[in-house]
Amino acid sequence: MQGLLTNKVAIITGASRERGIGLATARLFAEHGATVVITDLAGEDPLRAAAGLGGGHLGLVCDVTDPAACRAVAAEVVQRYGRIDVLVNNAGITQRRGVMDVTAQDYDLVTGVVLRGTLHMSQAVIPHMRSRGSGAIVCMSSMSAQQGGGVFGGTHYCAAKAGVIGMAKAMARELGPDGIRVNSVAPGLILTDFSRGANSDEAKHEMARAFPLRRIGRPVDIAGACLYLASDLSAFTTGTTLDVNGGAHIR
Ligand code: NAP
Repeated sequence: MQGLLTNKVAIITGASRERGIGLATARLFAEHGATVVITDLAGEDPLRAAAGLGGGHLGLVCDVTDPAACRAVAAEVVQRYGRIDVLVNNAGITQRRGVMDVTAQDYDLVTGVVLRGTLHMSQAVIPHMRSRGSGAIVCMSSMSAQQGGGVFGGTHYCAAKAGVIGMAKAMARELGPDGIRVNSVAPGLILTDFSRGANSDEAKHEMARAFPLRRIGRPVDIAGACLYLASDLSAFTTGTTLDVNGGAHIR
């Protein structure tokens, strides 16, 4: 099936790492006809990542913890393309910490990107989506929110990702009458560089052998869930959390 996002404009945060979920989502959205805006921190070169999608896409530097930077992204996208149809709040950061080792700085760092970032980027696009009476926001949570970590996540990461689910539900309830749908995806173990080398790929594959589907998740597995939630295939779905974990956590 092709063209699920034809004529749509989608912003995806934290989306320029080669092995990341964000870039896999950007590629799938572009294949489905979307104009994609990749945002990321400066060091990750979102302009290069967007150019790699082909012509007509856009890369912008944006630290999602900075509300002014989020508003600047939304303003530039509306100015260039006249619309924002989809936002994927994908940017995230983790630290593996036991509860007694989480410092106030650690807490601010992780919740700042995961929770405040989701809030600020959503706040940046909502006025535009409201004015058009439509939009879809997808928020990246984690299986860690549901089972208290177990792979990469420290206490503060689990709390932040659980907070994302609550925030998405609250936005879904408030923004539904404006035609804006908000949903979350809760990935299980996905083969990216998220742990920044703390776990080898082989160790992750080994861990995944215990999952019911007997394999680790691929970034494109999460991209598929984002595509569903961003497109009209999910037109009557809001406030939900889609588990994409190979059966590692069955509720
Ligand atoms: P990733 O490749 O590290 O993607 C995260 C991206 O967010 C990176 O490009 C990172 O940039 C960016 N980022 C960090 N701080 C930011 C900020 N302040 N503003 C904007 N961007 C920022 O890892 P991933 O696995 O694809 O993770 C994508 C999302 O999936 C995250 O929200 C993560 O929590 C979630 N997730 C992943 C897994 C998994 O197993 N991989 C499981 C559950 C949930 P830098 O590289 O410069 O830090």
